[in-house]
Amino acid sequence: MKEFILQVALDAPLDFCFDYRWEGAPGADVLPQVGQLAIVPFGRREVAGMIVGIGDQTDVPADKLKNALAVHRQLPPLSREWLALCRFAADYYHRPLGEVVIPALPKNLRGLKTVSLDRALKKLNKPREAHNATPANVPALNPAQQDAADAIAGATGFAPHLLYGVTGSGKTEVYLHAAATILSQANNHDNPAQILIMVPEINLTPQLEGNIRARFPNVMVATLHSGLAEGERLGNWLAAHLGHARIILGTRLALLASLPHLKLIIIDEEHDPSYKQQEGLRYSARDLAVWRARQLAIPLVLGSATPSLETWHHAQSGRYRQLDLRERAVRDAVLPTVRLINMEHDKPFEGITSTLLAALKLRLDRGEQSLLFLNRRGYAPVLACDACGWISNCTRCTAFMVLHKPDHRLRCHHCGLEHRIPKACPTCGNVDIQPLGRGTQRVEEGLQSLLPTARLLRIDADSTRRKGSAQAAFDSVHRGDVDILIGTQMVAKGHDFQNLTLVGILNPDTALFSQDYRASERLFAQLMQVAGRAGRVAQKEGGSASEVLIQTRYPQHPLYAAIIAHNYDRFANELLAERRQAGLPPFIFQALLRAEARELSIALEFLHTAAAAVTQSGIIINDPIPMTMTRVANVDRAQLLVECPSRPALQAYLSVWIAALRQIKTRARWSVEIDPVDI
Ligand code: ADP
Ligand code: ZN
Ligand code: ZN
Repeated sequence: MKEFILQVALDAPLDFCFDYRWEGAPGADVLPQVGQLAIVPFGRREVAGMIVGIGDQTDVPADKLKNALAVHRQLPPLSREWLALCRFAADYYHRPLGEVVIPALPKNLRGLKTVSLDRALKKLNKPREAHNATPANVPALNPAQQDAADAIAGATGFAPHLLYGVTGSGKTEVYLHAAATILSQANNHDNPAQILIMVPEINLTPQLEGNIRARFPNVMVATLHSGLAEGERLGNWLAAHLGHARIILGTRLALLASLPHLKLIIIDEEHDPSYKQQEGLRYSARDLAVWRARQLAIPLVLGSATPSLETWHHAQSGRYRQLDLRERAVRDAVLPTVRLINMEHDKPFEGITSTLLAALKLRLDRGEQSLLFLNRRGYAPVLACDACGWISNCTRCTAFMVLHKPDHRLRCHHCGLEHRIPKACPTCGNVDIQPLGRGTQRVEEGLQSLLPTARLLRIDADSTRRKGSAQAAFDSVHRGDVDILIGTQMVAKGHDFQNLTLVGILNPDTALFSQDYRASERLFAQLMQVAGRAGRVAQKEGGSASEVLIQTRYPQHPLYAAIIAHNYDRFANELLAERRQAGLPPFIFQALLRAEARELSIALEFLHTAAAAVTQSGIIINDPIPMTMTRVANVDRAQLLVECPSRPALQAYLSVWIAALRQIKTRARWSVEIDPVDI
């Protein structure tokens, strides 16, 4: 048999693909194909790589050229569209192709053996008889929802939409109707359709998965997220890859799934920061979704009550079509009234002002539920000694150790370092050391002393560590076993609480004065979202009107005025005008070079060399600076921001610059992030 050269992408930090000889295994008369996985020797190991090209020539000398060992033939090849998506991501984020392609695959596929693959394929080929189940009740859409669903399902070619709908306006119904139309138009064997629905966090919104399954009992629905066991993940991924699954519900990683019949992409809560991966390939699933929809010439829906300014800007300029849902979908349900409590006048006790306490008592008397939102877990953010000024700093990070009272620990939320709570000040021996500030545990404790009969439930990352415990906690709220729910952002997203009429927001002020220019955009989104948990049904007779109370020291701040008016339009337009004025995204494009080292000077020295490595007119190179949180786990970190008003010009510069960076000798570890969100 003739020999061929396979070009293989490997998960290695080298910016090229590797050539291997393919002589064909005995008895194998079929050639490997582009998009299949090959097992190849790499250094002393054998690894799985993706075949991205097949030829008959190579620059590798014959005595250096190694043989590919095997090809996973039972896996139908990944499509050219999928490879093109990965190639785009690799180019755009300036990473080797293999570092995109291989991690995008389920772990069980990347192994050398094919036992799990064979098992999963066998299992998939067995359940597939036709169903005839009756879908769950489909509510009739209101006119605004109907217009939106029609616009999406009727769109042809690449058609990005912003579905701008207040909390509770029934965006999900719009997604499901548009999906149903597209599935029914195309759902036959010659021209099947697949719909990708992305959500920020699946574990927090199991309601959605249940709703989708009930509404589409006759099509296969597959979920893709990091919480799945590996076997399940492989099975679901294959169901998508083979086209069996027609609806794929997933988190950001689902965007890189193989979806050969993709006809619609939906991104719910498109503004959510979790669509941005914050390690390794730091991609934005939202941005890649736009690219993928354009490449496939299909419609895309970005849904939000508080769109990201990037998306808002595109909608304002007409590049995205905006579909509005201005009112709540449930009959007579109205957006809650938002009131500010000035903490300078109404001084809090145990973190709760008398106004808020009275409102809580009223709900308690009426058998209604309340939610207290505080985005800080733990008991207190720091422990301090009044006598000598000692505070509980982490010895490894530029951060405080957080007091966790229930398990008697001081814990660093950044490096994981833990200590027992000291009985006395480690410096001066003073036994009267005090917690400063307030986290969810302390609010729970204080509130229980103020309202001894109330049934409280705290939901945060600490209280829901065990698998399934978050679900159990939310179930108990829905069942009515809880009077007051205390929680972090975990409780803010998506939940449809039916008996909740009060939301109390404790101390959101710190974000108002953050150095991060995105802080106010984020705070607004977060407050709107948590406020949106109240009043999801009509006010009951003799019941309370739904209400949001915000405890603040800065009641004059314009952000709060916009929240009270439920007016995101104006707020977003003002922020956009400010960003334009200040030359900030989305009016400029950015890349961030990060460097880490044992000593800050090493990181900074590297960044100074990098800053001078390649200069070009039109490219703004800012000064290297230590990161705000300079030290994490004994590593010092610094950064250098590069900006340009033109995205293509920045991309062209980055290609040259990053090549130059690779030549710099340094002990610092470095990486480049494109379109950074945390700077
Ligand atoms: P959003 O995602 O916009 O915050 P949801 O999709 O969660 O809103 O919908 C809020 C509530 O309104 C849900 O309880 C949903 O069942 C209900 N709902 C949506 N559309 C309709 C409709 N057309 N008629 C009646 N109820 C609806
Ligand atoms: Zn002391
Ligand atoms: Zn630490």
